[in-house]
Amino acid sequence: MIYLDNAATTRVADAAVSAAEQMMTENFYNPNATYKLGVNAKSFIESCRKDIAKYMGAEERELYFTSCATESNNWVFSYGRKRANGNVIITAGEHSSVYEPAMRLKNRGIDVRVAKLDKCGSVDTDALLRLVDENTALVSCIHVSNETGVVNPIKEICSRVKHINPKTLFHADGVQGALKTGDGIDSLGVDYYSVSAHKLGAPKGIGLLYVNKKINIAPMLVGGGQEYGLRSGTQNTPYIAAFSAAVKDFCASRNFAATRAIRDRLAKIFTDSGCKIVGNGQNSGYILCVCIPGTKAEIVQNAACDRGVIIGKGAACSGSKRGNRVLSAMGLGDKEVECCIRISLCNGTTVDEAVEAARIILECSEKIRSGNV
Ligand code: PLP
Repeated sequence: MIYLDNAATTRVADAAVSAAEQMMTENFYNPNATYKLGVNAKSFIESCRKDIAKYMGAEERELYFTSCATESNNWVFSYGRKRANGNVIITAGEHSSVYEPAMRLKNRGIDVRVAKLDKCGSVDTDALLRLVDENTALVSCIHVSNETGVVNPIKEICSRVKHINPKTLFHADGVQGALKTGDGIDSLGVDYYSVSAHKLGAPKGIGLLYVNKKINIAPMLVGGGQEYGLRSGTQNTPYIAAFSAAVKDFCASRNFAATRAIRDRLAKIFTDSGCKIVGNGQNSGYILCVCIPGTKAEIVQNAACDRGVIIGKGAACSGSKRGNRVLSAMGLGDKEVECCIRISLCNGTTVDEAVEAARIILECSEKIRSGNV
């Protein structure tokens, strides 16, 4: 099997499995207990936080473990605004876990403004900046598009937003950007940054929210006061251990130039075959969105799956919904949107398997077009 749907989720790294198993079977004690074994479990959590912070380019006290990035994003929209009635700005390229919380605010009467995308799939920075005013409480901009891999210049956007209104808080959904762009979180200048572990070789069910040390956020979950009082609930020690192990493994096996070269090679194969690359600005090497004319993505996806090639289409989390809000916001017509597949790489993807996958995908598309599937 050639698995190229890593933006949806990744295979769990062996080191992450072992780390989780060790915490489940040996170091399973309550990390909030005051006896020695509990204290040891707690200090293990802190050593994981420290390691993850080091690799993510943040300080350990800036990272709060959550159950997933959806939770991190929702937390920011529910409790990360200093002025409850101030306006909120998102971009048209946001994942539904940002878009839906924003729409919930809108339904409650908050002025929610949506910055448009340009044809390349990046946020139109000038258009976004025109929306910022003295009442802007929060701006949220996706770092790397989960649909197209386009990288938004978060550092520049954040600093220009704060130049207009220094009180505005800035959040970036970093799910497809964390560890995949070379930017440390602190270097971006953001107030909040959401990360999901299962995109990095850890299991599903663990993520984090970065909260800049200069900012206070109210807790979304209250109770026992875990995570420095900001996210109550007994900590998920096995998955925190797995997260830390996965992050180390990811960074050890990361090779930006090699991954980018594979993505570019795939882009060339597809364009040479008459397909269109969607989202062609500053791109992450990990994601490639391809519009294959005349073939519905879902049919290509299933035909490729039958031949052992796993690819994505649309957002993983909204795979069952029709249409694609983000691709439409880039100006793609409904027919084109239906034909977009997403290929997403991991650090272990080889050139040979990527090329073989492209061959199979194109063969399947050809058969579909000629009515043979
Ligand atoms: N944000 C982006 C950009 C994503 O790609 C995803 C998942 O695909 C999420 C948020 C949600 O992440 P999680 O599955 O950890 O809730």
